[in-house]
Amino acid sequence: MEVFTVDNHIWAIDHELLGIPGVGVTYVVRGEEIALVETGTALTVPQTLAGLDALDIPREAVRHILCTHIHMDHCGGSGHLAAALPNATVYIHSSVAEHLVNPTKLMASVRRAVGEEAWPLHGELLPIPAERIRPAEHLHLDLGRDVVLEAIATPGHSPDHLSYRDLKSGGLFIGDAAGLIMERWGLVFPVTPVPTYNLEAHLQTITMLRTLNLPRIYVTHYGPHDDVDRQLSYAAERIAELADLVRRALTDGDPDVEVLAARWLPYPDNGPAGVVARSWSRMSVAGMIRYELKRRQSSPS
Ligand SMILES: [Zn+2]
Repeated sequence: MEVFTVDNHIWAIDHELLGIPGVGVTYVVRGEEIALVETGTALTVPQTLAGLDALDIPREAVRHILCTHIHMDHCGGSGHLAAALPNATVYIHSSVAEHLVNPTKLMASVRRAVGEEAWPLHGELLPIPAERIRPAEHLHLDLGRDVVLEAIATPGHSPDHLSYRDLKSGGLFIGDAAGLIMERWGLVFPVTPVPTYNLEAHLQTITMLRTLNLPRIYVTHYGPHDDVDRQLSYAAERIAELADLVRRALTDGDPDVEVLAARWLPYPDNGPAGVVARSWSRMSVAGMIRYELKRRQSSPS
């Protein structure tokens, strides 16, 4: 576990997602009240709690837990965190809130999406009582001391995906909308996962984000980045490449996920970065294939 300062009122706790540093963070935002943005998985919660201890933040002081979307590495730890942080309310898009109350269906879907190799790294969701969950899509959260977080819809990576603008710094907690930027591992690529990826919505989201002239993005995987426009345009480029690769493979016949993943994202064979890259690039290829097949079904041309 490592804690680093992001801004005067923002810290990041590296909670060692998938058991490795440099992959996932939970952000801590401090006004009068404390909010966490992103929860990691159930398995990263002990590191997040240790990070709060290192920052001298008592468990009772955390009032809000914000999730950008329903994927395990963003909200999977929410139940365990809610149990450990007795005064915290959990915020997520209302369309998926039921999965945090009753996570059985979600866990089965994640297991299919990430595959058996990566599944044990994701941990199990703990149900959250419905009264501790609030809809996040219109969130305007005043934490005091001029610290305000505001939700912006950023669908595409998943339909429920929200980002949270920190009005004080102008920076955006962007979740997965700009993809992964994991410099420590030399991995920078967008994730377009099964089962609900939407290419059109994602590209519209990226275009919209570029018009905001954001000074900074706070990426979940991983850390703050100031070269916002460059990162967003790179993500759009890599998405277009993948879409093109998938369309051609579908036209040629039955696409092989493994082969396409290795072609789109040549990854290291061994070591922790290899596991992340393999799992997330396969998931992205599968997500793009599924999107394209759905698109062809609804408008055959
Ligand atoms: Zn995600």
